[in-house]
Amino acid sequence: PSEVVASPFQSFLNDLHLKYQSLRDGKVATYIPELAKANPDLFGICAIALDGRVFEVGDCHQLFTIQSISKVFVYGMVLEDRGRDYVLSKVGVEPTGDAFNAIVLDESSKRPYNPMVNAGAIATTSLIKGAGPTERLNRMLDMFRRYIGHNDIFIDISVFMSERTTGHRNRAMAHLMHHFGMIDEKIDEAIDLYFQQCSLMVNCHDLAVMAATLANNGINPITGEQAVDSSYVKDILSVMYTCGMYNYAGEWAYKVGLPAKSGISGGIIVVVPNQIGIAVFSPLLDERGNSVRGVKVCEELSRHFGLHMFDLA
Ligand code: GLN
Repeated sequence: PSEVVASPFQSFLNDLHLKYQSLRDGKVATYIPELAKANPDLFGICAIALDGRVFEVGDCHQLFTIQSISKVFVYGMVLEDRGRDYVLSKVGVEPTGDAFNAIVLDESSKRPYNPMVNAGAIATTSLIKGAGPTERLNRMLDMFRRYIGHNDIFIDISVFMSERTTGHRNRAMAHLMHHFGMIDEKIDEAIDLYFQQCSLMVNCHDLAVMAATLANNGINPITGEQAVDSSYVKDILSVMYTCGMYNYAGEWAYKVGLPAKSGISGGIIVVVPNQIGIAVFSPLLDERGNSVRGVKVCEELSRHFGLHMFDLA
């Protein structure tokens, strides 16, 4: 296991953690009881450099469900499974400006807008190849294992079950997309797989390794394993950049200037291409569903270290 390194970067993370631990703004997600139970004090920041150095502070080993952050990795898998053109014919790459769970499809093409909002993510998941639900799930878990870099991964069954029994809105979207030919007739199978991907347990450290794998052009910097075909990394990072923070994506691109993805359990991943993968975990969310402390930490990190992609000074 890699060790935490003492450095100016590590001290900056410690200071950020101390500064924002007392910030209590925002609310934990309550749409299912399992998430409402989240401890609002939990707060972790982890960054992993491409040479394997680990910088971390706070609750980086606390497990939580990955939720929407999974959408990034499933998108990459489906690009590999089906090719870019086919995937583009079913899921667009246009930011919506709407909430993550908006029931909205592109007026002319009838495609969901992008793979980072629920509708687009469900359509994306429906494209995972496999002979049946078990094979599709196992292929998906293998993909996550390559990014995470260890075999000890599992799905939280109680989160999965309650997503599944309460997920009428997502189910409605799936039926609408089936009506328009964007997803095939295996609607329930796609929805179950989508809820399973959302219920994968990860910690902040795992997420930082996953982000670092994207920063490293698809190769896990710890294990050296290729997690996704490098030729698709730019597709993944582009949709993260334009759509990863839902209806905050524009402001995020302006202020932070890095590809990122948030999830409703409080995680955010940020990719600094060719340099570092960053993850923040804190369950208190703003009204758009992004972690309040997570957004603050990333804004400060980007500003302080000049990480904005267009910071050419
Ligand atoms: N499971 C959640 C849903 O489908 C994921 C959404 C999110 O993380 N924003 O509603």
